[in-house]
Amino acid sequence: MARTETDRCPGVLAVHQAADGGLARVRVPGGRLTAQQLEVLRVAAADLGDGRLELTSRGNVQIRALDADGPRELSDRLFVAGLLPSIAHERVRNILASPLSGLDEESRYDVLPVVTALDRGLCANPGLAELPGRFLFALDDGRGDLADVQADVAVRALDDRAAVLSLGSRHVRVGWADVPDLMLAAAEAFLAVCDQEWRIAEVEDGEQQILKGLGLQADEMADSRATKVTAGVHGSALVVTVPLGSLTQEQAAVLVGVADEVRVTPWRSVVVPAGVTGLEDVGLVTTPESVWDGVTACAGRPGCAKALADVRADATRSMPTFARDGRRVHWSGCERRCGKPADGFVDVVAVSNGYLVDGVRV
Ligand code: SF4
Repeated sequence: MARTETDRCPGVLAVHQAADGGLARVRVPGGRLTAQQLEVLRVAAADLGDGRLELTSRGNVQIRALDADGPRELSDRLFVAGLLPSIAHERVRNILASPLSGLDEESRYDVLPVVTALDRGLCANPGLAELPGRFLFALDDGRGDLADVQADVAVRALDDRAAVLSLGSRHVRVGWADVPDLMLAAAEAFLAVCDQEWRIAEVEDGEQQILKGLGLQADEMADSRATKVTAGVHGSALVVTVPLGSLTQEQAAVLVGVADEVRVTPWRSVVVPAGVTGLEDVGLVTTPESVWDGVTACAGRPGCAKALADVRADATRSMPTFARDGRRVHWSGCERRCGKPADGFVDVVAVSNGYLVDGVRV
């Protein structure tokens, strides 16, 4: 059976059937949405879904509670808005980029033009439509904010001339001009060496096989420094936390009105220009001191049939008094822990008679 037939990662047409209806995931390479595109998503959520826009841990956007006709109507609207450039590739456009790229002094190189080139090259390559929906590209502007996203093919800027291309624990110094083609070639090489694996790390000696296929040799030490981007002003940008990653109609409408472009981060926040005001009035968070900065939750009840609790409601009730030691917090409705951060977080999991917090019953 072809991999695309067994791949259960949701997209816009191949939606996931959740307890509350169809769940569509819209890929947003680099997290970049124009105000017009965000407005299309907002209106589509109101017309076709439950009205909310969910931000995912890969900087994508989800719409829930679609009926049987929803995916077709949604895909038509996204195509017109430029959010669905290739139906064949819609689930494989998984490209993360540092959300503050080019906007503050921590950014060693603006990776967003590379994202555009990579996305175009991906959609222009029919064979790469066979990539698994979990396969992930990441472009870090050098600050280390994507150090823990566990991408299959990652690059991290050294300066405006060079970057380190990483496949798991193997690293190669490369020039920026070669980066898009090398990332695409690495994905093609993965398809050549994999059987039914979903990620490079699952292929035995996959990293070395792929590098060899590219004619490259690992020659670089990894820069493992990781940084966390918090809510607040960073250079010319304002990072805005969206409580539990769920944008209401009112919040989305306000964001549409304040910026020409909004960037969705992998941390359930968005980036808008510094100086924007009025966001706190609709429940968005613009300071790192908020109890909501760094807090995430899976769908929970009633959206997910596996959920043992309404984790979003419980998190909303409990967060003001929750002990977290400066760590991120993730609430899960069951042991699958969908959408959890990579590591170093407070792990809150619903069980049949309450919650486990870092394994301890509360
Ligand atoms: S963690 Fe469990 S309850 Fe939450 S969305 Fe995933 S499967 Fe559903």
